[in-house]
Amino acid sequence: MLEISREHVVCSLSSLHKPAARCASGDTVVFHTRDCYNDEIQTETDCPASEYANPATGPLFVEGAEPGDVLKVEILKIETADRGVMRTAPGHGAYQHVISERCVRFFPIENGEIPFDGHLRIPADVMIGVIGTAPAEGEDISTETPREHGGNMDCRLITAGTTLYLPVFAPGALLAIGDLHAAMGDGETLICGLECRGTVTVRVTALKNACLPTPCVATAQGLSTIQSAPTLDEAAVLASRAMHAFLTRTCPLDNAAAGMLLSLQGHLVVCQIVDPLLTVRMDLPQYILDAYGVVLP
Ligand code: CA
Ligand code: CA
Repeated sequence: MLEISREHVVCSLSSLHKPAARCASGDTVVFHTRDCYNDEIQTETDCPASEYANPATGPLFVEGAEPGDVLKVEILKIETADRGVMRTAPGHGAYQHVISERCVRFFPIENGEIPFDGHLRIPADVMIGVIGTAPAEGEDISTETPREHGGNMDCRLITAGTTLYLPVFAPGALLAIGDLHAAMGDGETLICGLECRGTVTVRVTALKNACLPTPCVATAQGLSTIQSAPTLDEAAVLASRAMHAFLTRTCPLDNAAAGMLLSLQGHLVVCQIVDPLLTVRMDLPQYILDAYGVVLP
């Protein structure tokens, strides 16, 4: 099986990056990822070098993926190291009014649980923070930033057993993956999840003429479109409109009917409030897709 080592990292997504590996559409590929601190925080006093912030492994060139396609990324398996790290970042996040000191803590990840303190064990719920394709030619988007190409979406639904759909803007799609979290709350309110290195196994397929509200993720519960903007208000409107357009194109619903349906059963959820753009998703329950006979490609 094709594997991409931790030696091959990028800190931005761009059509100009040389591929770390090439595969055929339909192939399974293993990405070995560094943590978001470039694996440089190993003790409580370590400070990571800023030039390798939020590295993503790749990019992977998928043969046959052309601009206008959708890249289907089936997330088959995620494994993490047996330890993760968190740190406060004064001046960032929701609690900066009371946190002025840099604080680093390591947590073990053992048997699917994270011992938080003497009282509490948190269930591990491993997710991918950064996963994206190259943006349109001429753009170079930091792996800190989520946008229409995916990237640093920090969406808790992007986990093993789900399928992510990303737009293709550059030949080969140029997929990169990094920033695993062993757990994260919706919002990622401090500034980080439980950051860890790990290994992600995906199957990648280039889809032609697919109608999907990308970036979007299909789970057992339904379909979620993930949208990012300078404010949560704008991201919420983008997510609502992306799902609305998807419904009117794939279901026998006019604009008013689709709006009514989403006002009843489209659920907005905050993904994260701490990245350069903020991210909101809209969840559409699976029973609605089933009712209209919509089968995702
Ligand atoms: Ca992130
Ligand atoms: Ca992170």
